[in-house]
Amino acid sequence: MKDTAKHQGLRNQLVTVLQQKGITDKLVLEAIKKIPRHLFLNSSFEDFAYQDKAFPIAAGQTISQPYTVAFQSQLLEIKKGHKVLEIGTGSGYQTAVLCLIGAQVFSIERQKELFKQTSALLPKLGIRPKHLSFGDGYKGLPNHAPFDSIIVTAGAPIIPKPLMAQLKIGGRLVIPLGDDIQIMTLLIRINETQFEKHEFGEFRFVPLLEDKN
Ligand code: SAH
Repeated sequence: MKDTAKHQGLRNQLVTVLQQKGITDKLVLEAIKKIPRHLFLNSSFEDFAYQDKAFPIAAGQTISQPYTVAFQSQLLEIKKGHKVLEIGTGSGYQTAVLCLIGAQVFSIERQKELFKQTSALLPKLGIRPKHLSFGDGYKGLPNHAPFDSIIVTAGAPIIPKPLMAQLKIGGRLVIPLGDDIQIMTLLIRINETQFEKHEFGEFRFVPLLEDKN
């Protein structure tokens, strides 16, 4: 578990790349500058960890591309102390970004192997989400709702109703919507019954799958 000056240099370069691609949120960029992404990947990918690319992780899943992590995080407009629900903990890299921005992070993962692996990794790196949960993200976490924002990090065929219900008024839900290709979608909750919808172009994610427990 080593983080060296070389890794820091590569992280600084990655942040420059993200800025060139249009990421402006200072808190997001600062978080990415600090998080040792190479430690979230199998060591065989260490040399590539700071390329702006997705990579395979356990259970046939992927760690999202840094640009995608930054783009989704920026759309959430997180303020310190916000309660944020993440669906799809995966490697925990996105979770770490949200924690460093200052959010209280609740995250759900449906692959047991990843849930166990990431639950063990994050504390070793000094990253402490409020709550990591093993289960089906389609249902959200009703016991911890409502949330200031919700981020889905897998491609969703539909917007799960429970997630809409668990969002505060004024809250933001960021979800990639679609089957093979997804449209990054932002829903802002206007009141009890109304949501404003914004779309932000195409992305590719592994699918958000239904419960298998
Ligand atoms: N944020 C993660 C992304 C991992 S890929 C990272 O950057 O590493 C998406 C993750 O969503 C996978 O780990 C997958 O197992 C998980 N996932 C898919 N369907 C899910 C569901 N219904 N509930 C919770 N997690 C789910």
